[in-house]
Amino acid sequence: MTTEQDARLKLIQAWEHLVLTRTRDLCANCGSNVQVRARMVVPESLGGNLHPENGVALCRSCRVISSIHQEPETNSKTPISFWMSRAQSLQMNEHLEAGVGYRTQSALVRHLVQQYVADPESFQDLIELAEEDVAEVKWNLWVDSALYTRFKNLLQETSGLSVRAALCGMLRIYASALNTLNQKESEHVGTSSNTTP
Ligand SMILES: [Zn+2]
Repeated sequence: MTTEQDARLKLIQAWEHLVLTRTRDLCANCGSNVQVRARMVVPESLGGNLHPENGVALCRSCRVISSIHQEPETNSKTPISFWMSRAQSLQMNEHLEAGVGYRTQSALVRHLVQQYVADPESFQDLIELAEEDVAEVKWNLWVDSALYTRFKNLLQETSGLSVRAALCGMLRIYASALNTLNQKESEHVGTSSNTTP
């Protein structure tokens, strides 16, 4: 590691420490303490800096779901299609219809591709979960071309996974993050309706 990289790493660590201290190591969105990390609200590519005010503490589930890190899209789009099992497609469509976050298959997959490129660490167990599911249902959509190229290169460099296996795995991670957050919501409802003195 060069001195410059080393100095930058120290800056980032100091910044993360400030952000996490402010939230007492708890996720600012759901209060979880699972794999909480500091993330920039405005990414550096859009002029964000390492100011504590530009930091938010997020647990793993909230990092996968959150829409921070979104970069402006270019005009050029690449159509992609990939196969998955009927069960997985039904499960994802139920989430989309329930209106939690994303409404369309395209919007959800674009979000996941962006999250992966911006924050691969949130998908650290992707290799275990990435499987080419049974080919029963095909999703057709389009993603930003520049982003898609970065996604494919990153997959090749880090895991050697195919795009289809990776996307199926990322959808599983997203669904389980949503379930984790939904469980937390119902726990909160349970606590607040508990009238024990
Ligand atoms: Zn959270």
